[in-house]
Amino acid sequence: MTNTLRPNFAERAKAQRFQTRAFIDGRFVDALDGKTFTTVNPANGEVLTRIAECDAADVEVAVAAAKAAFEDRRWAGLAPKERKRALLRLADLVEQHAQELALIESLDNGKPVDDALAADLPDAIETLRWHAEAIDKLYDQSSPTPSDLVSLVVREPVGVVGAVIPWNFPLAILAMKTAPALAGGNSLIVKPAEQTTLSALRFAELVAEAGIPAGVFNIVTGFGETVGQALGRHPDVDCLSFTGSTEVGRYFLKYAAESNLKKVILELGGKSPAIVMDDVDDLQPIVEQLAIGILFSQGENCSAGSRLLVHEKVKGRLLEALVEHFKTWTVGDPLVEGTRIGALIDEKHMNNILGYIKAGVEEGGRIILGGQRIRQETGGYYIEPTIFDDVSNQMTIAREEIFGPVLSVITFSSVEEAIAIANDTPYGLAASLYTNNLHTAHKVSRAIRAGTVSVNCFSEGDQSVPFGGFKQSGFGGREKSFLAHDQYSEVKTIWIQLK
Ligand code: NAP
Ligand code: MG
Repeated sequence: MTNTLRPNFAERAKAQRFQTRAFIDGRFVDALDGKTFTTVNPANGEVLTRIAECDAADVEVAVAAAKAAFEDRRWAGLAPKERKRALLRLADLVEQHAQELALIESLDNGKPVDDALAADLPDAIETLRWHAEAIDKLYDQSSPTPSDLVSLVVREPVGVVGAVIPWNFPLAILAMKTAPALAGGNSLIVKPAEQTTLSALRFAELVAEAGIPAGVFNIVTGFGETVGQALGRHPDVDCLSFTGSTEVGRYFLKYAAESNLKKVILELGGKSPAIVMDDVDDLQPIVEQLAIGILFSQGENCSAGSRLLVHEKVKGRLLEALVEHFKTWTVGDPLVEGTRIGALIDEKHMNNILGYIKAGVEEGGRIILGGQRIRQETGGYYIEPTIFDDVSNQMTIAREEIFGPVLSVITFSSVEEAIAIANDTPYGLAASLYTNNLHTAHKVSRAIRAGTVSVNCFSEGDQSVPFGGFKQSGFGGREKSFLAHDQYSEVKTIWIQLK
């Protein structure tokens, strides 16, 4: 059924204009050397526009602006409720422009525009509001002292924060870092992923409109090896918050070690298990959650449930239902209603995924659905939902993050074996578990070494709960919840001897 209230996004796309310059000290500026790079629409391979290609010299200017803004306390010095109001205004503005931002996100990233509107935008708005509301509700502490002493344990902003963002949830992850960092009074310099810069630049216009002072929020556009590295190595960047691959996460530790030992926050990759026990009855809701776990966002999701661990007793029935259900996830034009899987981020990434599919076959996996590139005639980068059966946990497709719509099915025959396989991975970002047995639910959730375990659903929870990884999925604190504020704070002890 056609939704008559839904905007005609394809029409709107033709008229969409983009902000393409870096945002430094409250102004949109070209790169100092005037260079630009292209960003492509992955749905058709066409160039959307050219963007300022900044490098270390531009980072220098942005860091100076952020540092000046921090030191004169134009933001940090505001009453908490003033910072709260500004961030709430920003959330309102993002909400008012949600359709436009969702369209920009879809054009630049390839995700279905309806997903951007139903998931990415509400998530970003909620994130901004939640952390804004926290500003004047987070109390500092006073420790027990004798009556001639006063002790205060206070939270202070860490200073200048660099944020390096991946391309899979550009706006949502930008908000996840911006909201708590600005809530705490820090200044921020963001480097978006080169493939998906446009929504961040539109967001920057809204930051200015919300009345957040110049220099407090900056965006330096460009590449990782130049802009990302310059932020990672800059002596005046006090904290670097990174979300992306484990491989690049290691670089930021090196940059920090070789420069000013800045605080590094890493939110990295995953190879999360989805475990189905033999006590489950109604398979349909499970199948739907498993599909969301691996197909939502084209599988380009750090917490994707990419390893299906299934008890041998239910495997036959479950896979039959799963194959049928996966077929209902239409791969198509991201702007068309009904598309559930859009385009992958770029040609290189698509070819990586196809390489993993090939390796899966060569190592003995058996494709029971999909496995092919499709819609090649569009010029875009699409792969059909793919399921591998007969996977062992030692195969490449069970060990490495594929970051596409490819599910690896591994069979187990006892709870202990399921736990062992689930934990036999260098990653530890998330896991989901399907069971009707309360004891199994508790026992297995505690035994799994991962930052989030969802039971009888695929979920990362909401803003009120922490998000982050064990093992090589990251460290340096947790995003979301009050813990996100700790990431961007220093704790100071003040010890006063009374006369
Ligand atoms: P990526 O390749 O690691 O890139 C992430 C960011 O790092 C981009 O802005 C990139 O810049 C920059 N970068 C690349 N090389 C760099 C270098 N040598 N020095 C400094 N910066 C550099 O990750 P991605 O492909 O964009 O995103 C996918 C990955 O992110 C997956 O591994 C996924 O699991 C992970 N992820 C994790 C979470 C989480 O919360 N744990 C959430 C989402 C995604 P360019 O623009 O030049 O590429
Ligand atoms: Mg793009």
